Amino acid sequence: MNEYVERKVTFTWSEPRSSYDVVIVGGGGHGLATAYYLATRHGITNVAVLERGYIGGGNSGRNTTVIRSNYGIPEAVRFYQRSVELYEGLEEETDRFLMHDKKGLLWLAHTEMGARAERARAEVNTAFGAKTEYVEPAQIKEICPQIDLTGNGKWPVVGASYHSGGATARHDRVVWALAEGAMNRGVHVHQRTTVTGLVKDGERVVGVATDRGTIGAGTVLSATGGWVTRLAEMAGLRLPIRSHPLQAFVTNHYELQFPSLLSSGDLLFYVSQTARGEMLMGAELDPQPSYSTRAGHPFIQSCAQRAITLLPFLRDLRVLRQWTGICDMSPDYSPIMGTTGVDGFLVTTGWGTWGFKAIPAGGEQMAELIATDETPELIAPFSLDRFARDRTLADRGSSGTH
Ligand SMILES: Cc1cc2nc3c(=O)[nH]c(=O)nc-3n(C[C@H](O)[C@H](O)[C@H](O)COP(=O)(O)OP(=O)(O)OC[C@H]3O[C@@H](n4cnc5c(N)ncnc54)[C@H](O)[C@@H]3O)c2cc1C
Repeated sequence: MNEYVERKVTFTWSEPRSSYDVVIVGGGGHGLATAYYLATRHGITNVAVLERGYIGGGNSGRNTTVIRSNYGIPEAVRFYQRSVELYEGLEEETDRFLMHDKKGLLWLAHTEMGARAERARAEVNTAFGAKTEYVEPAQIKEICPQIDLTGNGKWPVVGASYHSGGATARHDRVVWALAEGAMNRGVHVHQRTTVTGLVKDGERVVGVATDRGTIGAGTVLSATGGWVTRLAEMAGLRLPIRSHPLQAFVTNHYELQFPSLLSSGDLLFYVSQTARGEMLMGAELDPQPSYSTRAGHPFIQSCAQRAITLLPFLRDLRVLRQWTGICDMSPDYSPIMGTTGVDGFLVTTGWGTWGFKAIPAGGEQMAELIATDETPELIAPFSLDRFARDRTLADRGSSGTH
């Protein structure tokens, strides 16, 4: 535990009960947010969150903290915009400093086709509630003076969409605030508790088997990030999810003068500056599905090379840390939220490389579904049965590195 947790956050730990109304498997942002909103919006507190490691030890504590709603399809823009708005009020609501910082996000175009795509993004964003406009190179230079608009003579910047709602927040603080808020209202969070099986009564899931014993449940929600297919398998369910590693790294610290987020869809990288001054960079997934969290030099080399093409100052910095998370990738790059066809078993998954920003809205909507037994309109398009119904939601706006 670090200083912040010890001094500022009050966690109330409890012994597991024999059963709960709701058991949430996975103490990442989505599991904890669902518990938080169940307690705060619906008064449902007979809830346990079971986490095999420590809370936020999965992708929720490993991401690059980009929050945005400049997605490519109406369903996604609406959903992520709800999350952006919930994030904007989350510090006040939880009374915790989450280091929420509205920075704006430039999404660069290097070709005429890219420029058309960014203009289209601005249109669809504006139509469905997100704040995005198309900007010309001169405005890009004003927002980000460090940029080499010639792209080292190879990747000229011809325009960009500018999403003023783009923000960051400190990932582990978000996790802790949600956990604290849920626990203060009576939710149990059990760390070091691994779910090893699901208990069924006929076709219905009625509990979980764990390495600390069996726990009964009215409803079981899987919020297990990159390990979701293993849990789904225990329910006899095959999900359209592949688990891929995703790496990121930070440099040593640079004078605090890089205020915006910047992403290039053609060069496949994105960058921001942390509050400590580190330059934080990410790129595309490792292509091979795997549960390996090994981080490697080839990733740093190729990502850094692309980033330096546009931001030459980066070449004078040193890489300080590198890490990897395991992402639950859906075939259409959109999340899967809701019922599964297996009674008593719900999922929130398909969060891939973009689920941090979705934590508040994902939790809020899943809590509403559990509390009311009705799928909220905002997440209805993201149901699992969309694949069987031929209603997939291919979204080229979901990842910063398509
Ligand atoms: C390098 C990287 C950069 C990223 N950058 C961004 C970004 O900038 N913006 C963005 O929006 N998203 C980003 N993401 C994606 C984002 O981090 C995830 O989509 C999000 O954190 C998923 O949250 P979650 O709660 O679903 O999963 P997790 O946080 O992974 O939580 C799942 C938890 O389930 C637990 N678990 C698994 N199986 C079991 C079991 N059997 N029993 C008990 N517990 C279990 C795990 O230990 C884990 O703690 C990034 C991801 C990575 C890896």
